[in-house]
Amino acid sequence: MHCSLSPWCLKAGLEKFSKYKHNIDVISATVNEDLNTVAKRIIDTSPDILGICCYIWNIAFLRELLPMLKVALSNCLFVAGGPELLSDNAFDRLPEADYIILGEGEVPFAKLVDALIEGKTPDNIDGVMVKGASHVDTYYHYDIPVMPYDESYFKQLKGRISYIESSRGCPFSCTFCLSGRREKVRYLPMEDTKKRILMLANGGSKTIKFVDRTFNANKKRAKEIISFIMDKHKNGEIPQDICFHFEMAGDLIDDGIVELFSQSPEGLFQIEVGIQSLNEATLEAIQRKTDVEKIKTQLEKIISLDTVRVHVDLIAGLPLETLDSFIDAFNKVFAIKPHILQLGFLKILYGSKMRSQTEEFGIIYNEQPPYEVISTKHMSKKDMLILKRAERALELLYNRRRFVNTMQLLAGKMPAFDLFLALGDVILAKEKEKNSPLSLEELTEAVYSYLIDKMPEYATEIKSAMLYDRLSSTATSFIPHCLRSESHLYNKLKDIINKKYPKEKNIHRAIAVTGNDDKAKVFWADYSNKHPVTEHYKVNCVYVKELLTD
Ligand code: SF4
Repeated sequence: MHCSLSPWCLKAGLEKFSKYKHNIDVISATVNEDLNTVAKRIIDTSPDILGICCYIWNIAFLRELLPMLKVALSNCLFVAGGPELLSDNAFDRLPEADYIILGEGEVPFAKLVDALIEGKTPDNIDGVMVKGASHVDTYYHYDIPVMPYDESYFKQLKGRISYIESSRGCPFSCTFCLSGRREKVRYLPMEDTKKRILMLANGGSKTIKFVDRTFNANKKRAKEIISFIMDKHKNGEIPQDICFHFEMAGDLIDDGIVELFSQSPEGLFQIEVGIQSLNEATLEAIQRKTDVEKIKTQLEKIISLDTVRVHVDLIAGLPLETLDSFIDAFNKVFAIKPHILQLGFLKILYGSKMRSQTEEFGIIYNEQPPYEVISTKHMSKKDMLILKRAERALELLYNRRRFVNTMQLLAGKMPAFDLFLALGDVILAKEKEKNSPLSLEELTEAVYSYLIDKMPEYATEIKSAMLYDRLSSTATSFIPHCLRSESHLYNKLKDIINKKYPKEKNIHRAIAVTGNDDKAKVFWADYSNKHPVTEHYKVNCVYVKELLTD
C-alpha cells in the first residue's frame, strides 16, 4: 500500500503559489475500489475545481469515473495532468477534462486556479492546455520540489509506503521513458532533503521510497544522503525497522557507495537497478549508454553483502532484442543472484520517443493501457509468450523468495531460463486444470514432481534444497508430503534437537529430516526474526549420525 505524492505536491503548490486561500481536499483512491464509492467520496466534497492525476495504471479507471462525475458535478471544472496525458490528443483521450496540465503541475495549476477565480481566460499560462484552443506544447519546469508534507499528509498516511523527492528529472534519455526527455535534473537543497528524511522517517511509514529517477546521478550527493541516514539510524533519530528505497544507475555505483552499503545495517536500504538489456545494439537503439560489465561487477559486490536488498529489472520487447539475446541476458543477470529479478514487458508510453519509433522497429503493441508490446521486428508474438511463461515461474518461485536456493542450485546445472520456462509450463498447466492459482502446497508438489522426474540424478539434492527453502521461507511446522522423510527416528531426533538446542519461549519451531543413511540430516528453523534482506528465517542443519553419536 502506498500514498501517492503528486496530489500533495499540487496541494502544496496551490498553497504556495496562488494569491488566494483555498479549501483543499486530497482524495486518494485505488483502482481496486468500487467506482461508485470513489465517485461518492469526490461528489460529497462538492468541489469547484477537480484536479485529476493520470497515470498508465489509473487511466482506464478514470475514463469510467469521469463521465459519472461530470454529470453529478455539472458546475465543477476538471483539470487533469500527469504523465499519461503527455500527448497532443490528450483531450480526445479524456474528453471530460476542461484543462490539461503538461509537465510539472505545481505552478501552472496555481496560476490556472487564480485565472479562473479572476474570470480571466487562462489561455496563456505555460504548461496549461485549454480545451478547444490550439495545442501549445509548453512544459513547465519548477526548480525545487515544494514541501508536500503537512499535518493532513501524515494523518492519512497510516503506516503506508511514503515517497520523497530529492531531485527531479533524469540526466539520461532512454527512448521508452518520459523522465529524461525534457527535464534537466534539479536538486532539492541538501538541508531540506535531510529535514524531509527525518520527518518521513518519524511519520509512521516503514518504507520510504526516493522517487528520484536516478538517485546516484550525483554520486557525492548520494553518498552524503546515505551516510546521513546511517548516522541518524545509529543515533536513534531514525527508527530501527525502517527501509529506504533508491532507484540507481548500476554503472554509477562506485566503490564508495559499496563501502557504505557494507557498513549499513541489514535492511536499512534497498536498491532497484534497471539493467533492461545486455544487447549493445538494443542499448544503442534506446539511447541508453551503460557499462554493463561495471553494473554486473558492482551489483555482485552489493548482493554478496546481504545488507541491501537488490532488485534488478530486465525489459522484454525492446528494439533489436531477439529471444536469444534476451535469454542470454536473463541467464547472465540471474547468475549475479539478485534478490529480485523483474522481467518486465516494454510499454509504449504516450509522450515517449519510442511511440514515434514503433514503425521503424516494427513494434506492435496493445492500444489499451498499459500499452504493452505484443511483438517487434526481432521478437515474434510467440517469443514474447515464451518469456511470459518463464516469468510466471520466476515470480512464484524466485521473486516471492520461496525456492531461491533450489533455483540457484539448479541454475548451476542447466541454463536458468530453461529451468524457469519448463517450470512455468508445469505451473500454467496445473493452473489451467484447476482454473485458479495453486496453493503453496500444490505449487510445491508440482515443482517437486517435475524436477525429480526430469533430473532423477539430483533427487537427493533437490529434495534437500526444497526442504531447506520451505523451512526458511514459510513459518509453519507443516511440511508438504513430497518433502517429508518418514524416518522412524523422527520423534527421537526431535527430542534430541529440542533438548540440545532449546528454543525461546513462545517461538514456533519446525523440524524435518532429509536424506538417507550416512547422509541423513535434520533441518530446523525457529520462526522469530526474518532476515530483512533475504526475507528468510535461519535454517540450522546437523547430520543425524552426529546427533545420535553425541
Ligand atoms: S529509464 Fe531511468 S535512466 Fe532512463 S531516462 Fe528513464 S529514469 Fe532516466
